[in-house]
Amino acid sequence: MKPVLDETHDSKVQSWVESANVASSDFPIQNLPFGVFRRRDAGTGARVGVAIGDRILDLHGMQSEGLLAEESVRLSANACASDSLNPLMSLGAGPRRALRRRLHAILRQDAPASDRQAAARHLAAQTDVDMLLPAVVGDYTDFYASIFHATNVGKLFRPDNPLLPNYKYIPIGYHGRASSLVPTGTPVRRPSGQTRDGEADPKFGPTKALDYELELGFFVSTGNPLGETIPIREAEEHIFGICLVNDWSARDIQSWEYQPLGPFLGKSFATSLSPWVVTMEALAPFRTAAFARADGDPAPLPYLFGQSDQEQGGLNLWLEVSLLSVRMREAGIAPVVLGRSNFRDMYWTMAQMLTHHASNGCNLRAGDLLASGTVSGADKTARGCLLELTSRGKDPVTLPTEEQRKFLEDGDEVILRGTCEREGFRRIGLGSCRGAILPASAI
Ligand code: MN
Repeated sequence: MKPVLDETHDSKVQSWVESANVASSDFPIQNLPFGVFRRRDAGTGARVGVAIGDRILDLHGMQSEGLLAEESVRLSANACASDSLNPLMSLGAGPRRALRRRLHAILRQDAPASDRQAAARHLAAQTDVDMLLPAVVGDYTDFYASIFHATNVGKLFRPDNPLLPNYKYIPIGYHGRASSLVPTGTPVRRPSGQTRDGEADPKFGPTKALDYELELGFFVSTGNPLGETIPIREAEEHIFGICLVNDWSARDIQSWEYQPLGPFLGKSFATSLSPWVVTMEALAPFRTAAFARADGDPAPLPYLFGQSDQEQGGLNLWLEVSLLSVRMREAGIAPVVLGRSNFRDMYWTMAQMLTHHASNGCNLRAGDLLASGTVSGADKTARGCLLELTSRGKDPVTLPTEEQRKFLEDGDEVILRGTCEREGFRRIGLGSCRGAILPASAI
């Protein structure tokens, strides 16, 4: 499937919701990401909404008032009368696209007055709501799709042979923990665990190597039955959209526990998500070729090779991670950017990760979350975690307050952002994913 451009991508269209037309807004009418929110005042439950500027359009409210009753959107609007995006995700791409086009028509500046007045009654200020997890995630899988990240990390442990022999053949991944996924703004408790310092006896205590991982997540829309697979040419039709993921990691716990079965308690204590899911439709203008493999690299095996995926399976999306320490916050200093990387530099595409995941007949389900792994690039400024940035603590970073960081300290807040830009198109953003570190619990 090639990404389709239509009237919803027209950069000249503005919204009657004025805040959506501000150039710095992540949520112009060309974006229309879905999320789940709860109003702080009204005592209502969780509801599905769409971001427009600094507002949220309450789709449950729209639907229950009969404002999305047209045949083309009845199915998708009914699915929005839920406390999660799972029902909408399970419908697949067609109904989602129809809903996007209808919402675009309702929110554009020249929409009929009746549409504008009706929708205006269902707008809430984003400052008046709490954003929740967008979906009930049955399973969360984390990949390792940046060859730059894999090489930088590999060098710390195997300087002469950083990449393992499977890397260029298999989109490497592991099963993460879905129960500890948390929405942006949720504080993250410093985990305790077993660590071993050199040859000393292992001990149990708070991690001394707490790290963030700058990642992109994508949600499964329609899944596949157990025992069946998802061909690469159909893979994108099974993806709903993307969000930011901070895959917090305790490096000292991880390095002692991970052999031979891989990541476990060093990862499963928390994973933070941004609340807005930017759909594959909104991303259409920003698709690009898959990563150009170096001469001599093997071609993807046939089941991971799709012509359209090679041509358009990449995504030109800038990701950024910044840090705000307690002292910076007290001094009124803005968060300092620690890394900026682009998703087009990933060795594996989203479609390849999804197809590989289902290639053994493993059933993916609507609402499942697949994350890319740390997004890093060739440049030193493009490192998506502290493990890489500080070479496992060897070269600490200096903050604007002259504080140094090998790894995260209590009170540090980590902020992820993502934006897509292209000449001739309206810039869209993913919003932010924030989380601050709480001290470890008493043992
Ligand atoms: Mn990760």
